[in-house]
Amino acid sequence: MSNAVLPVYGPSPVVFERGEGVRMYDRDGKAYLDFIAGIAVNSLGHCHPALVNALTTQANTLWHTSNMFRVPGQERLAQRYVDLTFADYAFFTNSGAESIEGCIKIARRYHWSKGQPERIGILSFEGSFHGRTLGGISAGAQEKYREGFGPRLQGFRSIPFGDHDALKLAIKEPDLAAVLIEPVQGEGGVRAVPDQCLRGLRELCDEHGVLLIYDEIQCGAGRTGKLFHHQWVPGAEPDLLAAAKGIGGGFPMGMILVTEEAASGMAKGVHGTTFGGGPLAMAVGNAVLDVMTGEGFLEQVRRVASFMQQGMESLKGRYPELVLDVTGSGLLRGLRMRDDPLPLRGQLSDRGLLVGTAGNNTMRLAPPLVVTEDDVREALDIIDQQFASMMTAAGS
Ligand SMILES: *Cc1c(COP(=O)(O)O)cnc(C)c1O
Repeated sequence: MSNAVLPVYGPSPVVFERGEGVRMYDRDGKAYLDFIAGIAVNSLGHCHPALVNALTTQANTLWHTSNMFRVPGQERLAQRYVDLTFADYAFFTNSGAESIEGCIKIARRYHWSKGQPERIGILSFEGSFHGRTLGGISAGAQEKYREGFGPRLQGFRSIPFGDHDALKLAIKEPDLAAVLIEPVQGEGGVRAVPDQCLRGLRELCDEHGVLLIYDEIQCGAGRTGKLFHHQWVPGAEPDLLAAAKGIGGGFPMGMILVTEEAASGMAKGVHGTTFGGGPLAMAVGNAVLDVMTGEGFLEQVRRVASFMQQGMESLKGRYPELVLDVTGSGLLRGLRMRDDPLPLRGQLSDRGLLVGTAGNNTMRLAPPLVVTEDDVREALDIIDQQFASMMTAAGS
């Protein structure tokens, strides 16, 4: 079959027609439990009534004005995120990659404004993923994403994940502007950075005048049971944070959070975007935040997450021939498999369960945050049945 879409994706043959809550339905009406949620994007599930209402109401009112004009929903959402976090300012973008680009620019401009224009270095960690722009693939530490796209941009370098000695050397480099890290690595294999490492990193950055940037594009937006994952670790607040994915619940939007100090190089005309912070995105973004800050919402995420983790540990215990480890945090979880999980993803889809994959042979689970214990039980049962049939096949 011919397909005029640039062949950079390899989509599954299933075609979805509609979604509701944690389920999607294909063209034949078959139901699927969605445990990947558009890669941690549909944070409140599909067609959440509050989001549908916010979007359609705004769609009937005003779509776009550009940032030549004040956008009341933007100012409101910025203030709300500032009140809920370490930050003094928010800047809205359209995607994760755009948030990363902005963070890098703000960090470099900070040092420039302090009379140290030579500080342009950005240090990242092996296995990290920071988006597909030239800055993003330079920041990210996976060579496969850079192949054929010219040299890594100047200033970018990375060190192994968890290598403290390498970090202690790299942090001293006089041209270093910022350290960029995912508090829970997503694409690289769903790996959580230990709390004490985030704290240690914060201390090292302070000691050397280096800014600390968290990429919480995947692990933020309530996914690990706090609005942002680093809020589990007091004393490890960043100077800048990149968000996207779940904060828009499926509407494209991203956000940079930054302290007043780190933003000290930013002034009128220094940075901008046409669509970022527009009325449609801000209407949805405010509605997402209403739900996430609602009474008991994040507590429920933590409860279900703990239930899911126990279930995954139990799968690991029962299928040691298949499963090596349970990784991640909250509702961003990995089952590290002995073999490539790609065929497994298709087999689970046939059984009505959608999951993702990540680096290091990891099967990735990132259900909508509105998932219930019953949904989790159902999903884990499907995985259990699939594993059981794989064991039978292997034994025969
Ligand atoms: C998805 C992702 C990005 C890139 O976001 P886009 O919206 O695809 O540009 C960057 N960093 C992390 C950690 C991500 O998960």
